Amino acid sequence: MIHASTTAITRPRSLDEALAALEKSPGAVLLAGGTDLMVAWNAGERHLPERVVDLWSVPELATIGVAGDALHVGALATHSRIVGSPEVRAHAPALAEASRTVGAAQIQNRGTIGGNIANASPAGDTLPVLLAMDATIVVASRARGERPVPADAFWTAYRRTALAPEELIVRVEIARDRPQVLFRKVGTRRAQAIAKVSMALSLRRSAGGAVEDARIAWGSVAPTPVRARRAEDALRGKPLDAASIGAACAALPQDISPIDDIRSTREYRLHVAMAILRRALSGWVG
Ligand SMILES: Cc1cc2nc3c(=O)[nH]c(=O)nc-3n(C[C@H](O)[C@H](O)[C@H](O)COP(=O)(O)OP(=O)(O)OC[C@H]3O[C@@H](n4cnc5c(N)ncnc54)[C@H](O)[C@@H]3O)c2cc1C
Repeated sequence: MIHASTTAITRPRSLDEALAALEKSPGAVLLAGGTDLMVAWNAGERHLPERVVDLWSVPELATIGVAGDALHVGALATHSRIVGSPEVRAHAPALAEASRTVGAAQIQNRGTIGGNIANASPAGDTLPVLLAMDATIVVASRARGERPVPADAFWTAYRRTALAPEELIVRVEIARDRPQVLFRKVGTRRAQAIAKVSMALSLRRSAGGAVEDARIAWGSVAPTPVRARRAEDALRGKPLDAASIGAACAALPQDISPIDDIRSTREYRLHVAMAILRRALSGWVG
């Protein structure tokens, strides 16, 4: 529980109020669904902060919709709402798929995409999907207004992000003309498991079948979610065949740096990553 005697909690009712609260107390802890924060506070992994800005009642952050040529998903959209959203299912089905694998129903009803992004765990399920979709994470502060940050530039180091202390995440934007993304998550169980390895893959191919563009993003195999740029390069400009798939899989170990931890070993993660990449690319041939 948050103890009011030690923590001052502000509950803004609009985005403007939330930005004003952050401007007044830069670095205040933003609370969305609390499914990461409450666990960390209760377990003593994080100290109770002096100031909390509770975003739960900020309606502007909760919207999901299409604006022009992009899908907009508000930072406060819960995983349940993402799974149930016709707009997300139409324009970014892999995002709905990733949200569907986050915890169980209780967690999906409270946990938000903004929390998943800002928590910056390399195992966060939506993060590789956002990388593969070339999503833009729109952040804002009262002084500077909105600032678009490409997903590629958002996670800067282990549990670090490009967010400034007076900024919050407003929404995620995903272009509607992106190629679709394949999402794979390997955990201890099929449900309610944190990823040992996850992958999001998108390919754009020419009429002749050559790979024009490839984005292969990974979770749980490096300090941040990462793109496998050498593996992508091994595919780009090539027909998708045994030779290019073999080259991409051979390049993959240079792109990722899995570790041994409580969930898995480096060796297992490398093996599984290569296997799911090979299987996904082989399924694409034809
Ligand atoms: C039992 C359990 C199972 C879980 N399973 C999974 C899983 O399978 N996959 C997975 O990816 N995650 C999992 N999680 C983690 C968690 O549920 C998700 O990361 C969730 O999306 C976090 O969202 P939240 O709104 O609860 O974040 P919060 O706990 O409210 O916040 C998390 C972090 O994000 C920051 N933050 C929140 N909103 C914003 C914003 N708009 N702008 C800037 N910063 C912000 C907070 O300050 C905090 O640092 C699990 C958690 C639990 C307890």
